[in-house]
Amino acid sequence: MTDKIRVRFAPSPTGFLHIGGARTALYNYLFTRRHNGKFIFRIEDTDQTRSTDEYIEAIIDGMKWLGLSWDEGPFRQTQRQDVYLSHVQKLLEQGKAYYCYCSADVLEKKRELAMTQKRPPGYDGTCRELKNPPTDAVNPVVRFKMPTVGETTVSDLIRGNVTFNNNTLDDFIILRSDGMPTYNFVVVIDDIDMGITHVIRGDDHLNNTPKQIQIYQALGCPVPLFAHLPMILGADKKRLSKRHGAVSVSAYRDMGYLPEALLNYLVRLGWSHGDQEVFTMQEMIDAFALDKVGSSSTVFNPEKLLWINAEHIKKHSPEELIPLVMPFLIEQCIVGSEYSPDIDWLSKAIATLIERSRTLVELAHSLRYYISDDIKIDETAGKKFLNNDTLPLLNSVITSLKELKDFSAASIEKLFIDLMAKHDVKLGKLAQPIRVALTGNTVSPGIYEVLELLGKEISINRIQKAINSISNSE
Ligand code: GLU
Repeated sequence: MTDKIRVRFAPSPTGFLHIGGARTALYNYLFTRRHNGKFIFRIEDTDQTRSTDEYIEAIIDGMKWLGLSWDEGPFRQTQRQDVYLSHVQKLLEQGKAYYCYCSADVLEKKRELAMTQKRPPGYDGTCRELKNPPTDAVNPVVRFKMPTVGETTVSDLIRGNVTFNNNTLDDFIILRSDGMPTYNFVVVIDDIDMGITHVIRGDDHLNNTPKQIQIYQALGCPVPLFAHLPMILGADKKRLSKRHGAVSVSAYRDMGYLPEALLNYLVRLGWSHGDQEVFTMQEMIDAFALDKVGSSSTVFNPEKLLWINAEHIKKHSPEELIPLVMPFLIEQCIVGSEYSPDIDWLSKAIATLIERSRTLVELAHSLRYYISDDIKIDETAGKKFLNNDTLPLLNSVITSLKELKDFSAASIEKLFIDLMAKHDVKLGKLAQPIRVALTGNTVSPGIYEVLELLGKEISINRIQKAINSISNSE
């Protein structure tokens, strides 16, 4: 393929950028980057009752956060009304569209009648051949004249040929009585104007496609290639929605997911490349192929997303993770916004946690005991490991640590080995009470590293505090 490829992502701003939209955007992005084409971003805001500026901002923010950069746009359909109206006019003049004066009431009655007679409920063409408007005519709509015979075939890159009987497609409205053009019309005008060669979108639009193809043909324009992506489902095999949990991209950002991990997970929802699960963006671009996209729906699996996220966290160096985890440290009130960390020290602390953190939220949570003295001792862990039985060990550790000159992990390890021999205990017996005293919990990175990173003073203070609390509870 050549550099002529032009694709677009065209969300309607009637909600936040969601998982399904992000996957559509990603597939467009990968396809066009793979073939050195152009990626156009278009906001389809003709439905003014449901579109909001807040959603537009959120969608743009979501795309930026995901790193799905576009080459042209974002265009807004509400700013292109003149273009659409001129094409409506053209179709009217050529007799390919017509004014329809049927009132909403009349249409509703016709619809009900059709339903009871088990006929398709589409428009019956009353105004199709009307020579003159009725005398009481007000605010007509404009309808597109669909062919009444023959077939329209969508040749879809994912599903193959899908054929529709034209007699099942009614004369749909292209301009509403309030002067607003409709989706099925403007989408075609935009795709023509913007030179779109491949329309890659969700398969909820497949039924719209034959209508759109007819508009291309009526305007004498080439029809782009289509690729309709299969739906993403929830665990119950119903279309993924809020009922299934978080579905907006921003929710995953707030839960501490990395954008590249979310994209990596999404790319595999419907596309595969051998057994490979973990991809960098470049690997996705190099490997992505539309003809490897399956036509059946896939189930969204939050556990797998979490696993992929952990894999991507491991790909980062501790230094790279500092700016990423910072907002979560602030959000969890572990540091204030003015916090300026000792980069070397914080990197070492993060290094001990990379393998154990599946999200940035978890990483921030674990960093608490390194950064802040405000640690809470887990009740069960406290009862089990900070008590009269462990008191002699805690006292012994604190005495030895006070004397230790070189407070490095290696020296601390030697000190622990001596203490284990002295008290005739295994490491667990000695380390667990110290771990709980230092971190508040029974799980942490290696105890020697934790001690070194906390430093002598803080370590001793926390162990002392634990000793005091045992003595006070007597
Ligand atoms: N605006 C439509 C939507 O958000 C997409 C239309 C299209 O891609 O053709 O579902």
